[in-house]
Amino acid sequence: MTKELSVSQILDAVNSGAGLKTLSPVMKRLANAVSGDEIDGEILKDTARYDVALSINLLRAANRPGQYGNPVDNIQSAIDRIGATTARNMALSTEFVDMEASTSDKKAENEMRQLLCERSLFIAASAKQLVEKLGKPNNDHFHTLGLLLDIGVHFLLNNFTEQYLPILERWQASGGSLIEHEYDHLGIDHTIVGQHLAHTWNLGPVFEDSIRYHHSASGNGLDKEYADIIYLSSLVGGVFFMTRQSGLFNNILKYGFGKFWNDEDELSNLLQRVALEADKAMFLISTSKSNVTSIDLLRVINTELSRATLSYDEMVSELEAAMRKAETLTQKLEDANKQLRAAANIDPLTKIYNRRYFEEFMEWNFQRAKRYKSTFGCLMIDIDFFKKFNDTYGHLTGDRILQGVAELLKNSLRTTDILARFGGEEFVVLLPDTNPRAVLLTARKLRRIIEEASFDGEGERLKVTISVGHSFYTGGESTDIKTPKDLVRLADNNVYKAKKNGRNQVWPPEIENPAGTSDNSA
Ligand code: GH3
Ligand code: MG
Ligand code: MG
Repeated sequence: MTKELSVSQILDAVNSGAGLKTLSPVMKRLANAVSGDEIDGEILKDTARYDVALSINLLRAANRPGQYGNPVDNIQSAIDRIGATTARNMALSTEFVDMEASTSDKKAENEMRQLLCERSLFIAASAKQLVEKLGKPNNDHFHTLGLLLDIGVHFLLNNFTEQYLPILERWQASGGSLIEHEYDHLGIDHTIVGQHLAHTWNLGPVFEDSIRYHHSASGNGLDKEYADIIYLSSLVGGVFFMTRQSGLFNNILKYGFGKFWNDEDELSNLLQRVALEADKAMFLISTSKSNVTSIDLLRVINTELSRATLSYDEMVSELEAAMRKAETLTQKLEDANKQLRAAANIDPLTKIYNRRYFEEFMEWNFQRAKRYKSTFGCLMIDIDFFKKFNDTYGHLTGDRILQGVAELLKNSLRTTDILARFGGEEFVVLLPDTNPRAVLLTARKLRRIIEEASFDGEGERLKVTISVGHSFYTGGESTDIKTPKDLVRLADNNVYKAKKNGRNQVWPPEIENPAGTSDNSA
């Protein structure tokens, strides 16, 4: 039986001065950055910038009452003010939750924690992108502010898990306003809890007010610019987690129209940048073994140690041992990691994403769709008779066609779609939050565009056609598709069928349509 919770119990907890907990992968990263009494300042800053609990601890330390002047409002200034040693101690004394714990009730709780941390990352990335859109230099501050908007949510889950987890789960399942769910069951909402926390922790009036009013379009007396950025960040960040909320996209478009964007495409561009920005930090909180950084680090360590045959776990412990042993190696790995991450995602010939990035993005998107039961699609595209084309016109012309096709495909897709070169003359597209019908229509559109296009050859216009196979994932567990690979394989099998059936076509040509609406457009 769940214990009833009173508002005063919640406020007592707020006043107790307890902090927030971070996740074990974050602490692991920090621990790796320590050697003796020193900590790698860049890693500390980078980690704290993306982590709610660390950010809070550093800001609290920097804003201790009676000790300093005006409140600091971003992580760099906090570290500068309290000094590297205090920052290190504050960071390392942050409480954390063991994300590897696997009893079933802990599992649901931990998944929710990770989700909330991801959500805060998206809101922070949104705030940063929105301020940049206004051409303001102050984006560090807004990034931190965005990250901390939901401290009330984090705090409630930390301290009142038994009562609050079901509220979050109901919200997740039914959509709507979290605040209303909170009022129904707690009699108080996370913006008020958050404001009280910001006050107890001395984050300063800007944080207090922003946190209190981040769900209010009017801003309640907040500086107008703050009000817009705060409100829009929580909507935009929220898009990545509540795609089923009808009208949300329209609301966002309308609210920021004329100031942050002038059409849907500009908004779409911003959303893409938010995703990429948040993606950069996702490895921090992820326990998954397929995340970007692990792969990159493993590649580096692979060459560094010239050991190609170790198992993943052995390699990770090698990596950890190596990092502990040699500070210089850690630095080298970090540098190499940064370079790799920039270069490793793009195909050099066509300048679109490569297969590696596609597979990572696919994995991430798949987990998200599974949680939110959202639908997304996959297209596999293969150029017809391309071997013959090369034989006739030469490989260099063939390369130019590949570039032309990639560019045309890219320009014909939404900016939130991910187009990648899968292999030689094969392309793959991931269409997030897209229903099966729209997936089919997109496949047809691409086929037609390539058929109608012609490319510059030596003095003549050259033409190619493509065969397209599509597949889609309908979210949740109840489906034949269990892994991202299943989805890609299905699209690939469909390309094969399109080829067998005569090429230059989309397969399947129609979708099974349980709703009974027919579609005959080509
Ligand atoms: P199909 O219609 O069955 O797909 O026939 P195809 O000839 O396109 O298929 P196949 O898979 O037999 O051959 C693919 C050809 O694509 C082989 C190779 O000449 C060409 N190709 C692959 N990668 C590149 C590349 O980077 N540049 C160029 N110019 N050609 C490439
Ligand atoms: Mg092929
Ligand atoms: Mg081919």
